[in-house]
Amino acid sequence: MRIALLPGHAQTSEGAEMCCGHFKGYGEWTLAAWCIPQIAKGLRELGYDVVRTQRSDAGGTTPSYSAKAANAVGADLALEFHFNSAGAKARGGMVMHWGKSSTGKAFARLLAQGITSLIGVPLLGDGTLAVPTPDNRGTEAFRKSRMPFFMLEPCFAGSNEADCLAYTQRLLSGEWARRLPGLIDNAIKKVYGS
Ligand SMILES: [Zn+2]
Repeated sequence: MRIALLPGHAQTSEGAEMCCGHFKGYGEWTLAAWCIPQIAKGLRELGYDVVRTQRSDAGGTTPSYSAKAANAVGADLALEFHFNSAGAKARGGMVMHWGKSSTGKAFARLLAQGITSLIGVPLLGDGTLAVPTPDNRGTEAFRKSRMPFFMLEPCFAGSNEADCLAYTQRLLSGEWARRLPGLIDNAIKKVYGS
């Protein structure tokens, strides 16, 4: 199985800024790009074929370029890394999936349960968000991709101090990159078979 790992957004357009702007210059793209090589290494050790790609590889910065990039590398499954940002009180993690797929929802839920317990943050709702959302968030990535496509929103690292602290600790300790491959592998085996 070939897995595409994508940092969300782009180097030139980072997405949310880390922790209420306390870490200038560190946003969604940078933090994902930083740990993806380690996550890829862990997945390869588990037997997966892993390709790193991103929106800019397909020539743009919007979600439809995520689909183009994942399609271009022939991925069987695509995971794009984000973190959430909203009001200061919003907390928790979830995984976004294509709403018409029940297996997609099952995968998103399992992965969300794993990543929130790894980081030590609550589940946001049931841990899943079906696309299209009412505000059309990320829709084209899911609609145009030819494989199950997911956006990971591990927590509100952009706007909540506690979530930011928890996430930063797991990133810097290496725990996030070390344990995430096993969580992905578990969700794949349980939902899609081996
Ligand atoms: Zn994002």
